[in-house]
Amino acid sequence: MVRVGSVIVRVTVLAGGIGGARFLGGVRAALADEADAEITAIVNTGDDVTMHGLRICPDLDSIMYTLGGASDTERGWGRQGETWRIKEQLALYGAEPTWFGLGDLDISTHLVRTRMLDAGYPLSDVTAALCDRWKPGVRLLPMTDDRCETHVVVDGENGNRRAIHFQEWWVRYRAEIPAYAFVQVGLESAQAAPGVLEAILEADVLLLAPSNPVVSIGTILAVPGVRDAIIQRTGPVIGLSPIIGGAPVRGMADSCLPVIGVEVSAQAVAAHYGARSAGGLLDGWLIHDTDTAAVDGIAVRAVPLYMTDDEASAAMVQAALDLAESTRA
Ligand code: GDP
Ligand code: CA
Repeated sequence: MVRVGSVIVRVTVLAGGIGGARFLGGVRAALADEADAEITAIVNTGDDVTMHGLRICPDLDSIMYTLGGASDTERGWGRQGETWRIKEQLALYGAEPTWFGLGDLDISTHLVRTRMLDAGYPLSDVTAALCDRWKPGVRLLPMTDDRCETHVVVDGENGNRRAIHFQEWWVRYRAEIPAYAFVQVGLESAQAAPGVLEAILEADVLLLAPSNPVVSIGTILAVPGVRDAIIQRTGPVIGLSPIIGGAPVRGMADSCLPVIGVEVSAQAVAAHYGARSAGGLLDGWLIHDTDTAAVDGIAVRAVPLYMTDDEASAAMVQAALDLAESTRA
């Protein structure tokens, strides 16, 4: 049961896919008894990609399926009970790319999304329509309705460099080929989706999920207006470390941080986000209880940060709300 002095009504979370989804499960659980609670997730869309003519939004879908109770928790992504017959058939046609796993159940989501986008609906409306089915209990906002996709600069032929789509680097090459930079194609001219800046400015508490600081949170922060809104808001901003003991708990965030010159540690990620009092983003930072971190202007607290289930994630959220309350005082 959440009570943090004043009543927490509006909580906004910046989130990527799997880390974001697990964390949001905790936010929803922590605020389950608050009838007035409004939870908004601003979700990274830099991983979005078009494959076989279908528009795919991996992070939005991870959150939607997880909160809708339909995700495959063992595999870690996609739908429970998924089958792969269409993928097999595409491979028999020799239809590239063959390295991206599109499941039969999942494809129905991409068909509906693509059809609505082709008919002219913005991604934010499409997302709301898809959520009508899954009832995630959280308002999901794509960071932008504009198409902007993260690319990765890698070695090309004859000593040149080339940029490949983030999904190709991540899924096909498992982030194992050297990366020199991340480039968000189209981001400078993108606009925050309707409601995004308001959700940042007006939330009682803004939380940075323990998502990938570079290609999830970093991409959202790069949407024009988002960083300024965070700096301008009056209420607290609390981040949770995605790094425990110098390693990401799940996934390959350790292959992204060095590309932007940030060490893989809870301390370095906090310093990278920076203190709001010094022009950065954070008032508070939660680290795992075996880690240490100290950054001027950021209140640091150590608690268990393993998101093993909704209960564990909810305890993290409660700790973040408590820390938020203490930074107000
Ligand atoms: P993606 O878009 O699917 O890659 O997911 P996110 O960007 O939302 O989250 C991925 C990050 O979540 C990983 O890089 C991990 O560092 C972090 N993460 C995953 N599980 C846990 C956990 O149990 N605890 C913490 N603190 N971080 C986690
Ligand atoms: Ca992602």
